[in-house]
Amino acid sequence: MTKRIKRWAVMIIFTIALIAVGFTIGTQELRVHSEVESGFEIPSEETLKEDGIAILSYHRILSDQVSLRVARGMSNNNQLSEYNITKHDFIKQIQAIEESGAEIISMDQAQDMMASQIQPIGKYVVLTFDDIAESAFKNAYPYLRDNNIPFTAFIITSKVGQYDADQKLATWAQLKEMHDSGLATIALHTDDMHYLRNDKPVGALPAYELDFQEDYERSQETYRRHFGEDARYFASPYGTITKNNVRFLNQQIEMDGVFNLAQRVITTANPHKGTLDRILITSKNWHSFQAWLDFK
Ligand SMILES: [Zn+2]
Repeated sequence: MTKRIKRWAVMIIFTIALIAVGFTIGTQELRVHSEVESGFEIPSEETLKEDGIAILSYHRILSDQVSLRVARGMSNNNQLSEYNITKHDFIKQIQAIEESGAEIISMDQAQDMMASQIQPIGKYVVLTFDDIAESAFKNAYPYLRDNNIPFTAFIITSKVGQYDADQKLATWAQLKEMHDSGLATIALHTDDMHYLRNDKPVGALPAYELDFQEDYERSQETYRRHFGEDARYFASPYGTITKNNVRFLNQQIEMDGVFNLAQRVITTANPHKGTLDRILITSKNWHSFQAWLDFK
């Protein structure tokens, strides 16, 4: 083989691998977010709410690197291009929130407002990260720390520091560092039930309810070992769990909030149906969230 043919072969294999990985992850994530419209647009009835609390759900925050730009250029309906946010875009989004006059508050502040049943006046934003990958620790946390911005991280307790699918999750030391900064609320995202059976999240399957409840106890035990206290918030993997699981979590005395994904802004006019709405932010739907920030 000449050098040129070899180089081409390597490039073609690399391209096929990137498309395959992106396509597999993308279709899986899009299929399971049943409550969320395709494209994750925020409906206009939500963006026209003058006051309220928007709880944002982020995943990976990637450094703006060549491989991501290549992947984004090649395919437009997969997780690699849509579900991840680059560090550059993330910082721009946080700045846009602050420039709009909306206030970024901690989960506890939001919880106090929701519990008080008094209509919030003005716009409030809570930042959350599901799974909290190492990429979010490296690319989002330094900016949040330097600007004193609170956030919440939902962790899969048995997977801390390990690889989940194609992402390396933040380590206990990294979680501790964020927790000890006083800015991070570390919360639960199951112990080991962040996977699908027949394309459905196991937490959303009645057959797994007993397992789910035992899994919750294990995740609290692990959490207590590391932080010396109970976790007080829980985010459903893939944004959805069964009604019985919601009821079970809300019965736990230590639980202050159970979260889904539903692209809705919370006002106290919203009936609390056991789970609190969060808005999934992708690389493509920011403009619809910006419309809410801009609506005065
Ligand atoms: Zn997750």
